[in-house]
Amino acid sequence: MPTQGMGHLIPLAEFAKRLVLTHNFSATFLIPTDPGRLPAAQKSFLDSLPAGINYVLLPPVNFDDLPNDVGAETRISLAVVRSLPALRDALKSLVSGFRVVALVVDLFGTDAFDVAAEFNVSPYIFYPSTAMALSLFLHLPKLDESVSCEYRDLPEPVQIPGCIPVHGKDLLDPVQDRKSDAYKWLLHHVKRYRLAEGIMVNSFKELEGGAIKALQEEEPGKPPVYPIGPLVRMDGADEKSECLRWLDKQPRGSVLFVSFGSGGTVSHDQLNELAMGLEMSEQRFLWVVRSPNDKSANATYFSVNSQNDPLAFLPKGFLDRIKGFGLVVPSWAPQAQVLSHGSTGGFLTHCGWNSTLESVVNGVPLIAWPLHAEQKMNAVMLIEDLKVALRPRIGKNGIIGRAEIAKVVKGLMEAEEGKQIRSRMIDLKDAAARVLGEDGDSTKSLAELAQKWKNRILS
Ligand code: UDP
Repeated sequence: MPTQGMGHLIPLAEFAKRLVLTHNFSATFLIPTDPGRLPAAQKSFLDSLPAGINYVLLPPVNFDDLPNDVGAETRISLAVVRSLPALRDALKSLVSGFRVVALVVDLFGTDAFDVAAEFNVSPYIFYPSTAMALSLFLHLPKLDESVSCEYRDLPEPVQIPGCIPVHGKDLLDPVQDRKSDAYKWLLHHVKRYRLAEGIMVNSFKELEGGAIKALQEEEPGKPPVYPIGPLVRMDGADEKSECLRWLDKQPRGSVLFVSFGSGGTVSHDQLNELAMGLEMSEQRFLWVVRSPNDKSANATYFSVNSQNDPLAFLPKGFLDRIKGFGLVVPSWAPQAQVLSHGSTGGFLTHCGWNSTLESVVNGVPLIAWPLHAEQKMNAVMLIEDLKVALRPRIGKNGIIGRAEIAKVVKGLMEAEEGKQIRSRMIDLKDAAARVLGEDGDSTKSLAELAQKWKNRILS
């Protein structure tokens, strides 16, 4: 049962694929839906899943009572809570035809555990983000008891078990205001994490050794943690899209891919600076442009496609001036294929975890431009701990200026620092291939989990 957002659905689908193709399970997605429709990108993604994986769209929940500016965590959590009667019906029908071994929810889906218990189905969590964020989640109830101020006002960085210290202001969004509904929902879920019989995390030891070690230390009441990553989407659009054909014509490793995930947006002023900075860098680039939003950096998360023609917001004459070295595509690109294309040599990313992992498995070095959710924490890890990303400095006006952007882009694509970052990324790429190999740690972790579930069927 995924919660909303492509970033939650894609890795959970990869997990399901491996269970189906390698371990002979079948999987059914039970999908809570927000009022309105399932965004087209999600629908076509679900329809493309292989045999053995089905999906059921639960009836849309009613959100008429919610204010317009309700936070993402509240909306996502309530979509699950209000879908519980429909989930009960769906599970009832599933258990009448199949031996259902587990209900796997993702980060904000723990309310579904109560329904799983009614059917004697084991509760599990698939955690689609970092072991670092998971370590913070499991530690949060203690932190909540011991800290009385806002975390961002703490003089010292927060020590998450097994991780590099992170300043309170860089922790994920819902902990930035402890009086908010988002924080209350988060605390509610993380306290329930201990009800799970296991937590699968989309990471691996060479990437997050400290956090994974801390997560695997035994402690009464703590569920076993299975690092099974990096699970990333390798397939994609059948037809070669325009941007892939364009990439075919560029020199090897020469193109910077610029994208802010499935819903990330920047302000109009920032969009302008980014355009001018990319132009000034004189590097080849492929940019997924989304309409600017001056209210929230996450404005299109629930709808995927921006409302207006995003290209209309670009600076005057920009498209003509970049002809030959830059390509812009509106709203959405086949990212997995772009990152695995030989011409792609760098990625300016919002540091969403799926985007990060897709870059890791392809050995593509990063420019970290975090926007929301847990992306600032991811950026700290990528820059300070793993040293595989450069970070542009934010100016006094809260915007990253064109000269800074041009400098960082050149730094990554041309300079010595870029070469070092690239070489560390290649080491991670090799490590990722090893852990997913026949005897790799992540393969073994998944096999251990599959065996546990098979034993449950036999018992
Ligand atoms: N994605 C894509 N094309 C786009 C934007 C995003 O295919 O134009 C995919 C991307 O490859 C990744 C997912 O959507 O698998 C985004 O997940 P991530 O965790 O990086 O960020 P989120 O969208 O959750 O902020």
